[in-house]
Amino acid sequence: MLEELKKRVYEANMLLPKYKMVTFTWGNVSEIDREAGIFAIKPSGVDYDILKPEDMVLVDLEGNVVEGEYNPSSDTPTHLELYKAFPKIGGVVHTHSPWATSWAQAGRGIPCYGTTHADYMYGEIPCARCLTKEEIDAGYEKNTGLLIAEEFKNRDYEAVPCVLCKNHGPFTWGKDGHEAVHNAVVLEEVAKMAARCEMINPQVQPAPQEIQDKHYYRKHGANAYYGQGKK
Ligand SMILES: [Zn+2]
Repeated sequence: MLEELKKRVYEANMLLPKYKMVTFTWGNVSEIDREAGIFAIKPSGVDYDILKPEDMVLVDLEGNVVEGEYNPSSDTPTHLELYKAFPKIGGVVHTHSPWATSWAQAGRGIPCYGTTHADYMYGEIPCARCLTKEEIDAGYEKNTGLLIAEEFKNRDYEAVPCVLCKNHGPFTWGKDGHEAVHNAVVLEEVAKMAARCEMINPQVQPAPQEIQDKHYYRKHGANAYYGQGKK
């Protein structure tokens, strides 16, 4: 069932090694069919070299495997909580891409130092705290999702389609799996540039608010004018 969804999710997963976002089998992409209430996700620990569309695992919003020969990614409960918390998203990505993960390990959000960042993400990319021992023991992956949802209680998850989890790594999302991968690649580039930027000038300050606003709002919202206007 949902063969088209599985094919799209397979293709989105294959973009992770293509863009050098993953090492070995790390990383996973999912995409949801909101009408069916089912998402497709990469199976756990299967090499990208041998991965096939039919290997994608279908999971419902209670976390039950609906179809699939393999176990779903171990991060599945995090994806599930994000789909529940962010009703407008259609795809989720998790990687340990090195630059974004370096910021996560350092426990720092990524300030907006320039327009590459501002084009895609409005303001600082937050770094969520570590889970407590109790939260880890009670359900590490599920509580990771709940913590991200909590982090965005007072933020716009569409304006900032990504988060860093402290001592762990990034999660990104988008309207579908492909957009979530796109955002993961942008986040990695932004994380790399921000780190170099601080290296070149340790006193660097975030970009002025007006330039952040200009770049974000020319691509997003009611008055956007960037691109070919085919939206
Ligand atoms: Zn991870």
